[in-house]
Amino acid sequence: MWQVVGQTRVVSLLQHSLEKGALAHAYLLIGPAHVGKMTLALNLAQALNCEAIQPPCGECAPCQKITSGKHADVQIIGLTSNGNSAEAKPRAEISIDQVRQMQHSASLPPFEGRYKVFIVDGAEQLSREAANCLLKTLEEPIGKVIFILLATNERLLPPTVVSRCQRLELPPLAATEVEAALTSGWGIEPKKAELLARLSHGCLGWAISAAADDGLLQQHTQQLDRLLDIINADYEERFAYAAHLAAQFSQNRGWVQEILNLWLDWWRDLLLVKVGCNDTITNIDRSAMLIEMARGYNLTQIKVFINSIQAAGEQLRLNANPQLVLETLMLSIPGRRGKVEEITLHPI
Ligand SMILES: [Zn+2]
Repeated sequence: MWQVVGQTRVVSLLQHSLEKGALAHAYLLIGPAHVGKMTLALNLAQALNCEAIQPPCGECAPCQKITSGKHADVQIIGLTSNGNSAEAKPRAEISIDQVRQMQHSASLPPFEGRYKVFIVDGAEQLSREAANCLLKTLEEPIGKVIFILLATNERLLPPTVVSRCQRLELPPLAATEVEAALTSGWGIEPKKAELLARLSHGCLGWAISAAADDGLLQQHTQQLDRLLDIINADYEERFAYAAHLAAQFSQNRGWVQEILNLWLDWWRDLLLVKVGCNDTITNIDRSAMLIEMARGYNLTQIKVFINSIQAAGEQLRLNANPQLVLETLMLSIPGRRGKVEEITLHPI
């Protein structure tokens, strides 16, 4: 049984290829973080090496070894792993040495299974040399060897690498699908499952992690509280916050983008409340606050600010000056009806 939740289109395609013996020698799984790419890749590795009549069974010795990362013919390379090496130090990129080791291993016949499977986790982190080196292998398929590249953004991969792989897209799941999986598969109580499902944006892996670690949800709450404080703050405080985010940006771009996404969620929720679609909001635990707050803005103000947040995210991706981008965003926060905006311009 395939363990990946949802993704029926991709699973049935792989199942069909397995039954026909028509597998590609390389796959590229594209989808947001925590959507299930690694689960699917490991499931495929199991299906290729399973001993049961209907693979993947998840229970035979090869399937279990693959689940626990102990199958000699299934290797994962990424920023924190290095095939069979004991080295686990995080890296800045996937190096050419890692790819060469993988190629050497691929040139040897399977050790204990039928197929050798190499999973490249975070393929967009391949260094240029590593990607070029991998390309040679992808151009000359080796029998009984399958490569599975996992990536969130294929635009960061060389087009030559993408074109050598069969591309499979894993879209985010519906919130109801995540919610059902959390309650039935992980025993999460319904109210929490509903909230986590909404916050996960269809990425079940995130919801499962957040269910197991309260810290993730707490962090989310704190960050959102801070953003809500900023809406009511004066310009001095908003600019101080912009400077704080900009200072973080050089070390942790992903974190700043996450904050922007959090804000985007909030303002989209305001928009949904404004047009009466309260059932589809993300921050379901704060619906009363959203309803109250939505009264203070008109539809145009909300739409314009959503555009501003999106534009800021795009400008940051294009390497604009982070402080300038974030300060401009702070200036674009719309004023609430009934609240006097205090703009103090200090003399130069
Ligand atoms: Zn099995």
